[in-house]
Amino acid sequence: MPGMTATSAAREILTRLHDVMAARTNAQAKLNQVVNIIGEALSSEVCSIYLLRDGLLELYATRGLKQEAVHVTRLALGEGLVGHIAQEVKTLNLDEATSHPDFAYKPETGEELYHSFAGVPIVRRERAVGVLAVQHAEPRRYDEVEIEALQTVAMVLAELIAGAELIDEAVRGGSARDAGPVRLAGLKLVEGMGRGHAVFHQPRVHIEHTVAEDTEAERQRVYAAFRQMREQIERMTSQAEFGTAGEHQDVLETYKMFAYDEGWSRRINEAIDSGLTAEAAIERVQQRTRMRMREISDPLLADRMHDLEDLSNRLLRIVSGQLGTAAQMGLRQDSILVARNLGPAELLEYDRRRLKGVVLEEGSLTAHVTIVARAMGVPVLGRVRDIRQVVQEGDLILLDSAQDTVFVRPTSPMEEAFDAKLVLGQKRRAEFAAMRDLPPVTVDGRRITLMVNAGLRDDVAALDITGADGIGLFRTEFQFLVSATLPQRERQQRLYRDVLDAAGDRPVIFRTVDIGGDKTLPYMNQGDLAEEENPAMGWRAIRLALDRDALMKAQARALIEAAAGRVLYVMFPMVSEPWEFDAAQALFETQRRWIADRNRLLPTAIRYGTMLEVPALAEMLDVLLPRLDFLSIGTNDLTQFLFAADRSHPKLAERFDWLSPAILRFLSRVTNTTDKAGIPVGVCGEMGGRSLEAMALVGLGIERLSITPAAIGPVKAMIRTLDAAKLRAAMAGWLAEGAHDMRDRLTTWADAEGVTIG
Ligand code: PEP
Ligand code: MG
Repeated sequence: MPGMTATSAAREILTRLHDVMAARTNAQAKLNQVVNIIGEALSSEVCSIYLLRDGLLELYATRGLKQEAVHVTRLALGEGLVGHIAQEVKTLNLDEATSHPDFAYKPETGEELYHSFAGVPIVRRERAVGVLAVQHAEPRRYDEVEIEALQTVAMVLAELIAGAELIDEAVRGGSARDAGPVRLAGLKLVEGMGRGHAVFHQPRVHIEHTVAEDTEAERQRVYAAFRQMREQIERMTSQAEFGTAGEHQDVLETYKMFAYDEGWSRRINEAIDSGLTAEAAIERVQQRTRMRMREISDPLLADRMHDLEDLSNRLLRIVSGQLGTAAQMGLRQDSILVARNLGPAELLEYDRRRLKGVVLEEGSLTAHVTIVARAMGVPVLGRVRDIRQVVQEGDLILLDSAQDTVFVRPTSPMEEAFDAKLVLGQKRRAEFAAMRDLPPVTVDGRRITLMVNAGLRDDVAALDITGADGIGLFRTEFQFLVSATLPQRERQQRLYRDVLDAAGDRPVIFRTVDIGGDKTLPYMNQGDLAEEENPAMGWRAIRLALDRDALMKAQARALIEAAAGRVLYVMFPMVSEPWEFDAAQALFETQRRWIADRNRLLPTAIRYGTMLEVPALAEMLDVLLPRLDFLSIGTNDLTQFLFAADRSHPKLAERFDWLSPAILRFLSRVTNTTDKAGIPVGVCGEMGGRSLEAMALVGLGIERLSITPAAIGPVKAMIRTLDAAKLRAAMAGWLAEGAHDMRDRLTTWADAEGVTIG
């Protein structure tokens, strides 16, 4: 097609295809017409369509090759040029076909006459379902314009053949690059097992019409969609609208860059000019980008590619009016949610009964969504690269986050093994539930206090289910994190009162807000909460609360009023020096006096405690302890600061062991000091929720643990089979000698002593 642009070449073909597709003929007749139209338009002697059937590429229609070969010639994936194109999902353009190493001669076709060859994959959901090929007697390469036109036509064909049920069912149903079973690895964010069908948090758009009736109307639709998308992104960046998106700032910046990218919108417009609908044009451009990107193996670019995919999907959703998340549409069956990332509020919108797990491409251990999912008891596997490419909506997924694994479209043996493990887990949970009313007492008679960590209103139910002694850590910032606006004092008070009412006689330790750093609240002054280089070590928790005392005062009032007539337990996070505790306590006392002056009912007592999560505070315990009612060790932050290892860094997640002698010696020094001072000390970090680690803590003399509700059963089983005094003596010896293999020693010891480690 010399002198033609890609747009006009494709347009000419599409106009004619439009009529063919609208006609009431059968699919085979349509394909026969299609090869003629394309062959003519490209002045090619040969035009052929191969489609995937029973795993083989079968010649379905041809102009130019021998008609006897139709439905006879078949090629395996990877066999010959056609097989190569389908397998690699890649275009080939050769002036001399026989020179390609994969060339395979099929005598029945009579193709020996033709020298030049160009073929493009017919792609459906990233997988080749067929090949469209043209051949020429003259040895010449097809030019860029012709290849472009072929690719556009192939896209329209993909819809035609899927609709006509010409290809393998599995492929038509939209399975991914590999329709078979896949096992993917990730990072365990919330432990657990879940079985369900894949649901995309942002559902994929199904394109129904690819060829436009009215090009101008399509152009207007895309203009409007671009406008709307840019507005959305502006809104998200200016407010970082909490809860409506899990995106980070840098992702939003990239979105913005693409949203205003002239090249992108121009390419979409060109695709519309070639006769495609707005939806098909967006998809066509995306397909082309994907093909190009596949040739570049730069991880940084791959990340940007994800951003563009997301944006393209967003544009498609806007243009097709298919907005809303899967939560808004409701889950119809047991589901595993698949997303790039999520906000905590978005997760909370899902029906807890049907949500069996979450698989994320991103995510980290301390992300808000992880903390909320843990509280909801939903297993989460994070950092599963390409999950959205591999999985299709509706695929069966088995999630086993304890094994850092997710099975997509599992085989029967995989399912059986999974189910057996699931049943075992249920059986064990039933055994733990039966222990609900048994006290956590060691073999040598030490009564360990077992409490739960909580943060959401519904978490309180865990107290009755597990038979725990109380709430050892109520993360008050959860309410702030899941709210779209700053929760006013009345709202805070209502939550605290509800929690206290539900807990009854059992104590609830409220931790004042630990926000700032990575837990920024977008509705707070952005200037103050500017991005930090090291958010975990930044302006957060008590540091922020003392500087912004209006927030702390409101929370103090809310807590004191909510606890009227009862004992109020308050704990401060991230205290690094004793004066911070003093200042926070003084602030609470001022509020107490203010309420007393107004003759309102006060708590019967306020017990003040602090978290120990900044190592520096350990050096000052002799000074601080006399002023405290209790101390709670936050091992999550403590270990990240002890090892100088970011707790949310996936590469460091497995590197430092909670049972390393450095941590255990550190904790042992702390318990020696607290013992002497007679101040109760507990642990409320994730470490206490693992049976072996919990055993080691008891072995260091820590007799109060606040853990995730699901861990109460296993930890109680451990306690009830443990001789604490014997372990204490053994551990003191090991630590004194400087043993480096504490995990092994503790495991062997537990085994020999018959301690149940679940
Ligand atoms: C901790 O740091 O161990 C802790 C319990 O607090 P958070 O996980 O909320 O930082
Ligand atoms: Mg902490």
